[in-house]
Amino acid sequence: MRAEALIDLSAIKHNVELLKDVSGTNLLAVVKADAYGHGLIPVAKAALSAGASYLGVALLEEAVALREAGITAPILAWLVQPGSDFAQGIELDIEIAVASLAALQEISAAAKSKKARIHLEVDTGMTRGGFLNEWDQLTTEHLNGVDVVGIFSHFARADEPAEKQNSDQLGRFSAAVAHLNSLGHVNIMRHLSNSAATLKNGAASFDMVRTGIAMYGLSPDVQTLGDSKSLGLRPAMQLRAALYLVKDVPAGSPVGYGATQSTTVDTKLGVVAMGYADGIPRIARTAGVWSAGKRTPIIGRVSMDQFVVDLGADSKARSGDWVTVFGNGSHGEYTADDWGAASQSINYEIVTRIGPRVPRIYAPHVY
Ligand SMILES: *Cc1c(COP(=O)(O)O)cnc(C)c1O
Repeated sequence: MRAEALIDLSAIKHNVELLKDVSGTNLLAVVKADAYGHGLIPVAKAALSAGASYLGVALLEEAVALREAGITAPILAWLVQPGSDFAQGIELDIEIAVASLAALQEISAAAKSKKARIHLEVDTGMTRGGFLNEWDQLTTEHLNGVDVVGIFSHFARADEPAEKQNSDQLGRFSAAVAHLNSLGHVNIMRHLSNSAATLKNGAASFDMVRTGIAMYGLSPDVQTLGDSKSLGLRPAMQLRAALYLVKDVPAGSPVGYGATQSTTVDTKLGVVAMGYADGIPRIARTAGVWSAGKRTPIIGRVSMDQFVVDLGADSKARSGDWVTVFGNGSHGEYTADDWGAASQSINYEIVTRIGPRVPRIYAPHVY
């Protein structure tokens, strides 16, 4: 094999247990985007076995894939656009987020043998999804055709716990809950927190937290909240690739497209069999791989299927060896955080963009 992502499901289980403990409430495991690149079905099953009570996805088709795999746990899909097959979703007991009166009408009309189970999404200040101006127009009548299971909102700045916007959003959320209660809906699940809020804002945990990135063992923001280790989280993904070729190269050799970098001394270069088509960011210039027990930097531009690393003249690496692109950092290797920083991005984007050509293998990490 050329490249693989090793997914340690025991790390996912550890993180779910930790997050449940921290929040002291129900946990919805966010498995959208192929479980942040870790593989939808194996992660969903691991999270449920570790005590998650709900699964959360963006798309209806992600929820349908979970049902087709035989998963019977409650599922919430929160990005279901007009014109979707709501009837199928209702039939499969998929709970659906509703963010407008029009959506409420459409989903009520789609219900046949049973009512749609919905969660009302309110915009408490992120100004993205959720009811805003229409919230005050909502009446008991609008809600007659549905089964209101929950109310939720989403934080914009939970990774900056001291920001006033967090308490503003919390206040508006409580007011929205009170409004829904006043319409006669009292027995509803309230959920607001993402990973960062789960870790740093206990007052927002309510009846359920929706954890994504932390469940995969990654910090929502290394700068403001600290890294995985300091949060007690275990990164679940190790990305590995084969050194397709190792060769000696003289000083002054230009490397890769555009000859953006040249060797400065006689050295040994390694060609890593992974490229931007596999999710290695082309912009990452300061990252590299862990090879033969040391950090080995990228040299030259990342290509579609390969990139080159400078192993150093004394390296013991050989063609066919495996290198770690990123891991949990415990051996000194680069982490998804390092790749995020090197790409002017975040660990979320690094793991979710690992391409479909990279097989996900469910096994402990290998060094
Ligand atoms: C993605 C998402 C989450 C999870 O966010 P993390 O920061 O990964 O924990 C929670 N809620 C909603 C609505 C989301 O879209």
